[in-house]
Amino acid sequence: AKEAGRNDFRFFTQEMNAEAHEQMVLEREIRKAIKKEEFVVYYQPVVDVKQGRIVSCEALVRWQHPFKGLVAPNYFIAIAEETGLIDGIGHLVLKQVCQQIQKWQNDPVMKDIRVAVNLSPHQLRNNNLVHDIEKMLQYYGISAGALAFEITETQVMQDPEGTAVLLDDIQALGIKIYLDDFGTGYSSLNYLKRFSFDVLKIDRSFIMDVEVDSGDAALVEAIIVMAHKLGIKVVAEGVETENQRQFVAQQECDLIQGFYYSRPIDAEEMSSFCHLNFAK
Ligand code: C2E
Ligand code: CA
Ligand code: CA
Ligand code: CA
Repeated sequence: AKEAGRNDFRFFTQEMNAEAHEQMVLEREIRKAIKKEEFVVYYQPVVDVKQGRIVSCEALVRWQHPFKGLVAPNYFIAIAEETGLIDGIGHLVLKQVCQQIQKWQNDPVMKDIRVAVNLSPHQLRNNNLVHDIEKMLQYYGISAGALAFEITETQVMQDPEGTAVLLDDIQALGIKIYLDDFGTGYSSLNYLKRFSFDVLKIDRSFIMDVEVDSGDAALVEAIIVMAHKLGIKVVAEGVETENQRQFVAQQECDLIQGFYYSRPIDAEEMSSFCHLNFAK
């Protein structure tokens, strides 16, 4: 038994070493990818329920890998966050988004489409963040209203005081703040009152089951009512079916994002999609 135990332990460490090694390789690859600017931004349309048209979109990063193809963020965001490389990726994302907004300003259909960019905890801890954002807006000559940032309640929880100051500074620039993945963290209600979020995004996990889980349906309904009482707009995330769309629309949800309308698409497809939608 002793022998086996020792073997187990050896296997365990070997596995850990393999994993640590894999992480190291990935970290090095990401570092290189930042230098070579291999990250591209995809956009997922967000539809205004009352207006029945696309009013905004979420910027979602992908890694255009030289031989792996288009790599999803789940593969690299966590390690980028751990290693701080997310600052570099975040900078590239913001730059691309601002360039895109600048281009879209000359297009009557695209010029009022707001782009929401995800900010990670590490980026929020970066003291230069607000300054970087301000410089970027100036450089590309775009108005702050064209941009929004999404942060999660878990991030807010990690440092409520610091986050409050930071969010105030960002909002003072005229940029809206969205609370992402709402309902998946803790103390949600408390933070809703303390922070002045412009928009709340109900997490996909609640939307997924609204048709079959009366508990989730009740929660979604309650979140929307509460947000509206606090003067906050609501996005339903991850709407995939007509029934889900109908349900959240009936609950007077303001905005809808999900595969029902479109998956995340590149800038060109986004523009075509909006023109099609606008022409209707
Ligand atoms: P998120 O911020 O919650 O983004 C929404 C995710 O849900 C996206 O996955 C989107 O493709 C997916 N989604 C949207 N509608 C549907 C639907 O109807 N059904 C299903 N099954 N999924 C839907 P994606 O693009 O893979 O991004 C995953 C996560 O990676 C994001 O979750 C966000 O946390 C992170 N991420 C993406 N881009 C960035 C970025 O530029 N910076 C940072 N810091 N994080 C990012
Ligand atoms: Ca998001
Ligand atoms: Ca989300
Ligand atoms: Ca459920």
